[in-house]
Amino acid sequence: MSTAKGYAALAPKAPLQAFSFERREPNDDDVVIDIQFCGVCHSDIHQVRDEWFPGIYPQVPGHEVVGVVTKVGAKVSKFKEGDRVGVGCFVDSCVHCQTRDENAEQYLPGLTQTYNDRDASGQPTYGGYSDHIVVKEGYVLSVPDNLPLDGAAPLLCAGITLWSPLKHWNAGPGKKVAIIGLGGLGHMGVKLAHALGAEVTVLSQSMAKKDDALRLGADHYYPTNDPKTFEALAGTFDLIINTVSAPIDWNAYLSLVKVDGTMVLVGVPDNPVPVSAFALIAGRKSLAGSMIGSIKETQEMLDFCGEHNIVSDIEVIDIKDINAAYERVIKSDVRYRFVIDMATLKG
Ligand code: NAP
Ligand code: ZN
Repeated sequence: MSTAKGYAALAPKAPLQAFSFERREPNDDDVVIDIQFCGVCHSDIHQVRDEWFPGIYPQVPGHEVVGVVTKVGAKVSKFKEGDRVGVGCFVDSCVHCQTRDENAEQYLPGLTQTYNDRDASGQPTYGGYSDHIVVKEGYVLSVPDNLPLDGAAPLLCAGITLWSPLKHWNAGPGKKVAIIGLGGLGHMGVKLAHALGAEVTVLSQSMAKKDDALRLGADHYYPTNDPKTFEALAGTFDLIINTVSAPIDWNAYLSLVKVDGTMVLVGVPDNPVPVSAFALIAGRKSLAGSMIGSIKETQEMLDFCGEHNIVSDIEVIDIKDINAAYERVIKSDVRYRFVIDMATLKG
């Protein structure tokens, strides 16, 4: 066992505070990672505050983890000491059946989340708001050498969560793609969809983020607080990706989808959202969902980002400022992802 330093919520809705805990000794197939940066995902806030399902406490959040390998088990072949690596939202695929569908392992019922879950031995998993982590090599990703580690951290969740549906629903040249919500996920969606060659529109609450959206690669920008937006864009998009967790009228956004087009949900509202049958049948439209992505897809996305020099737009913070950062995320006041500098844990 090794003692890890981190930040945890000791109870549901409690603010995060310094917390020490034990990590397992590395097994033969494990990699030990010195964590350098960890992104702050809105899902961390939902889970720390117990908004989705009863959480496990103390809870150390963090699933946008990047760092450097410090030790590998005897049977590890993909990584060596000094490698730049990442860990995303899960650290084992199925604790029940031990099977692995490498194209869709994120949908296995026994998926082990990086935090707020229990591993095969029943021990709680603790995430990346900490100084080191021990992970099976099959769940560790390589970060391309040309990408800065701090900007690459959000690729491990925000990046893959948008990459997977963009690829699955064939975003590319000739396709009109809209992204609802220019936050952590949304801004990665703009960068990735643009790099894939799609025509990209941002649908944001107000005009406030227009310049940023165009700089990030959007071709068009519309404020959703203006009813004229919904008239102007009726029946326009092949694909809409909705990253918003606040309650919004999905029927209004479905009216912007083309015949045979799709709206994909990646944002996770707390409560069910009513959808009218007419919003779908009048246009043979699909309403779909998508959750993160497989390890294989995540590595493909990281390699694509390496080739296209894509990282997240970030604001690096001290771990001591994490509770204030959460409040800013909730107010949509982040441009566009907070990333914690783990060196500040030592201060
Ligand atoms: P975020 O940075 O807070 O971004 C959410 C964006 O939603 C905001 O920037 C804002 O964009 C928009 N928004 C906020 N309040 C709104 C409101 N009242 N009405 C309309 N739009 C509003 O969050 P995130 O980290 O990107 O995560 C977004 C959601 O995806 C969360 O629910 C998170 O848990 C979920 N998530 C899902 C997956 C998955 O696998 N499916 C993975 C990661 C995260 P504008 O200011 O541009 O309007
Ligand atoms: Zn996330």
